[in-house]
Amino acid sequence: MDGQVPFVDLGAQYATVRVQVEEAIAGVLGSSGFILGQEVTQFEQAFAAYSEAEHAIGVDSGTSALELALRAYDIGAGDEVITVANTFIATALAISYVGAQPVLVDADPDTYTIDVGQIEGAVTPRTKAIIPVHLYGQPADMDPILDIARRHDLVVIEDACQAHGARYKGRRVGGLGDAAAFSFYPAKNLGAYGDGGMVVTNDAKAAEAVRMYRNYGQKEKYVHMLRGFNRRLDSLQAAVLNVKLGHLDEWNAARRAHARAYDQMLDLPLVTPQVPDYAEPVYHLYVVRVKNRDAVQQRLTERGISSGIHYPVAIHEQPAYRDLGYSAGSFPVTEQYERQILSLPMYAELSEAQIDRVVAALSEALEVEEGPLSIEAGRGAGGA
Ligand SMILES: *Cc1c(COP(=O)(O)O)cnc(C)c1O
Repeated sequence: MDGQVPFVDLGAQYATVRVQVEEAIAGVLGSSGFILGQEVTQFEQAFAAYSEAEHAIGVDSGTSALELALRAYDIGAGDEVITVANTFIATALAISYVGAQPVLVDADPDTYTIDVGQIEGAVTPRTKAIIPVHLYGQPADMDPILDIARRHDLVVIEDACQAHGARYKGRRVGGLGDAAAFSFYPAKNLGAYGDGGMVVTNDAKAAEAVRMYRNYGQKEKYVHMLRGFNRRLDSLQAAVLNVKLGHLDEWNAARRAHARAYDQMLDLPLVTPQVPDYAEPVYHLYVVRVKNRDAVQQRLTERGISSGIHYPVAIHEQPAYRDLGYSAGSFPVTEQYERQILSLPMYAELSEAQIDRVVAALSEALEVEEGPLSIEAGRGAGGA
């Protein structure tokens, strides 16, 4: 239907890169370099340069990138890793895969990223690392996090899976901590045509370890230094990503323009994450908070507007993580927001007319459903 607005539209993006992508794929098919072919090396070099970092190692998913980065720093059984309750499950899963214990802290009520003020209280003698998440494409407040890490001798691994190209105090995410994990899941700002991921680091030793871990622990052919995995980035995906990386800045700029349009047109006092001076976000998601979220979402659906919830159930409330020992009320900001957040359609190819339709439908829904949250009422329980 003409009035439909999808949440993401991968087909619209494909139409803009089809010829280049098909050529790149044909190049891999012609060369038969399917495993760690030249496309992988090319993309690793290009992505390291893009991220303003020394090394980039292609792996098979963002989850693997997080896991192998943890392994590169020998984090494992008996260790604790601090991260935020308000994230996608994969952040916690990667910590669990290496045998370590996820230790959660709440989100900041203004930025929705990790509440930096709560990190130090969660540090114990077992703590080995912090994983801040650049949620929705907005960098976490890295400087105080790095300070805490320095004081307690902790590793910092950025979960940059939603933040390709975002900047913190002018610097790209990815090279800010000890290592960073990116995902190329198709709907991410930089998406493959399948799964893919990348570890980015300025630490040559960690880079070497991840290179071995992703490829059976191999240093040279048939010499296995450690018990590694088969977690390589596919050459076909690297070929696609090489093409798409050339468009990423332009796509991120379009996302930022759409976010500004949403900001301006929603002249309702709608509550969105604050963007601090330190942040240049890339709007992987555009998230608003509303009262009666489920009813508002239902009305949008009826008007043909797709939306999402990122995320409806926090890590500590997941059946898989009951044994962490947290309970309802452990993370009040995260728990309040998961009932209020709504992600509006957001992708580079979104048109002005589509944004107008989203705004019209949302305004109407909010009028019926008791109006928007007031800024005051929207503050999280822990808010300043
Ligand atoms: C997508 C995502 C991941 C996992 O990436 P995959 O490529 O899907 O494994 C991890 N963390 C966050 C915050 C993500 O958004």
